[in-house]
Amino acid sequence: MLVALTGTPGTGKTTIAALLAYRIIDINALVKGGMNFGRDPDRGCLEADMDALANYLAEQDCDELLILEGHFSHHFAKRAIVLRLAPSVLRLRLEARGYSSTKIQENLEAEALDVILVEAAERCDRVDEIDTTGKTPHEVAEMVTEIVQGRLQLPAGQVDWLTEFFG
Ligand code: ADP
Ligand code: MG
Repeated sequence: MLVALTGTPGTGKTTIAALLAYRIIDINALVKGGMNFGRDPDRGCLEADMDALANYLAEQDCDELLILEGHFSHHFAKRAIVLRLAPSVLRLRLEARGYSSTKIQENLEAEALDVILVEAAERCDRVDEIDTTGKTPHEVAEMVTEIVQGRLQLPAGQVDWLTEFFG
């Protein structure tokens, strides 16, 4: 079974995935490793080959639980866990990463408007969301484990950053 661990860049996907006791497939690594069409001239980032990724990931699907980690991993799984983070905290993380102000603004707006959550809800049969704000990576990893083991349900719709972000 494939489960996507997704969320806006900076919400903690890579950090949390590293703490899980499951096999992880890093979607960004696959894109960098060749499943791409080269650099997008406007954005400077690699343009992912979504068909190649989908084919490869379908081949990996088996009885074992596999976690797909990346901000568009929800395109390739029927179940998704979306990591959420208050935009005020996300801003600090993206600044620390050295993102441009345009890229920071784009990502903060995407988080405030639930863009990834909505995409996941449109594509997946089941979506849970975790508000990671103020939680340690271990606490979040434990919640992910509880969700995939069926002991915790956090259906979409608990998080609302609109007041915080747009005032
Ligand atoms: P993503 O893979 O979603 O882009 P990262 O896992 O790279 O995000 O995390 C971004 C930054 O936030 C890293 O510096 C990481 O150490 C930090 N971080 C991630 N999760 C937490 C958390 N729960 N609490 C505090 N810092 C965190
Ligand atoms: Mg990452």
